Amino acid sequence: MSEKLSFVSPTANSPWGTYLSQVDRVVPYLGPLARWVETLKRPKRALIVDVPIEMDDGTIAHFEGYRVQHNMSRGPGKGGVRFHPDVTLEEVMALSAWMTIKTAAVNLPYGGAKGGIRVDPKKLSLQELEKVTRRYTSEIGIIIGPHTDIPAPDVNTNAQIMAWMMDTYSMNVGGTATGVVTGKPLHLGGSLGRVKATGRGVFVTGREAARRLGMDLRGARIAVQGFGNVGSVAAELFAEAGAKIVAVQDHTGTIVNSNGLDLAKLVPISRTDGVVGFKAGGDIVPNEDFWDTPCDILIPAALEGQLTAERAQKTTAKLVLEGANGPTVPIADDILAERGVLVVPDVICNAGGVTVSYFEWVQDFSSFFWDEDEINVRLDRIMMNALNHIWDTADKHKITLRTATYAVACERILMARQERGLYP
Ligand code: NAD
Repeated sequence: MSEKLSFVSPTANSPWGTYLSQVDRVVPYLGPLARWVETLKRPKRALIVDVPIEMDDGTIAHFEGYRVQHNMSRGPGKGGVRFHPDVTLEEVMALSAWMTIKTAAVNLPYGGAKGGIRVDPKKLSLQELEKVTRRYTSEIGIIIGPHTDIPAPDVNTNAQIMAWMMDTYSMNVGGTATGVVTGKPLHLGGSLGRVKATGRGVFVTGREAARRLGMDLRGARIAVQGFGNVGSVAAELFAEAGAKIVAVQDHTGTIVNSNGLDLAKLVPISRTDGVVGFKAGGDIVPNEDFWDTPCDILIPAALEGQLTAERAQKTTAKLVLEGANGPTVPIADDILAERGVLVVPDVICNAGGVTVSYFEWVQDFSSFFWDEDEINVRLDRIMMNALNHIWDTADKHKITLRTATYAVACERILMARQERGLYP
């Protein structure tokens, strides 16, 4: 468990510290709304739960779980659930806060929330995984719900886990509440296009950023860190547009091929053996070499804090697309800006997932489901409108896209806060 329980004193370069410094940078652009900014610096509510389960060998194991509702000024909490051995309360706080900014940046009627369990799911049997998921859902059931807080998949969680969460919540309330989670299987109220939505959003924003930079995607060299739901889908879409995926890193290692990796072969192998399983298709290199592989576009799509000052100095990319949440530490952000590297920040770049989650939630309530073309057209439109508005804001104030995204989002959140007023 995290020893650091204070909402206001983060550890240096921690995800929560990164988030707080991102908020500080936007204060000069908030005008009179700046008096409300402290609201954004503390979560509304944070729940820590014990998740005990009986393991297959008969022993009892305890895992620590969290659900943080950062801000609900604009609507119900929304945000994924992460299963990872390094999850801490402080990390979940940051991830929930980034959801608040993200939902406001794309103007979805949500606040921000996030959850997690400190567990390595790769060490659990399927039955143990189901028990952990169900007990956790039951424990956080007192604060989640279709109108209050709607979880979704994140690192190491998927549609099956969402189905167990939906079933557990439904059993506890005595009905079938499909709208309590998004990212569900299709036949349980899931939405077409949800699995690929985050990667597609990275592609849509990246394509527009490349166009504005005058960079041709055909032949552009791309390095991708994290080859899961977000990284692999983004890589496939860029490859379809003619780009070459020259380096890929996941938890098993790093593979490079300056002629472009064959994704049709790499993707299925990576699912079982990790990217190093595709030795035949490229060279396996030390992990640190990933960061100076010659490339035009860098897509960090793994975990927070990966793009450090040193790595920001050595990347040859002209464009960084933040598929992951919080991959760039603030000092690296400054270095990239000084070096003229354009960063499309997480809070807009990876917002495709929550956007299609929103579509799923709307479809669940109306019990009327859209076809995939309609989903993709609407996703494209929402992402492009949001990005164009953010770009105009960045141009107007001569600020980075990150600060501009925060300016747009924080204005919406704090305006809602001001209009609602403080209770009592
Ligand atoms: P995932 O579990 O599907 O994939 C994670 C990938 O990261 C895997 O390839 C894993 O091997 C790799 N990885 C883990 N640790 C690593 C390390 N130390 N070094 C290199 N690679 C490592 O997760 P995902 O859903 O693709 O999420 C990735 C990132 O995108 C996270 O930051 C997540 O919060 C963010 N995100 C996900 C979604 C979504 O819809 N899934 C939406 C928005 C943002």
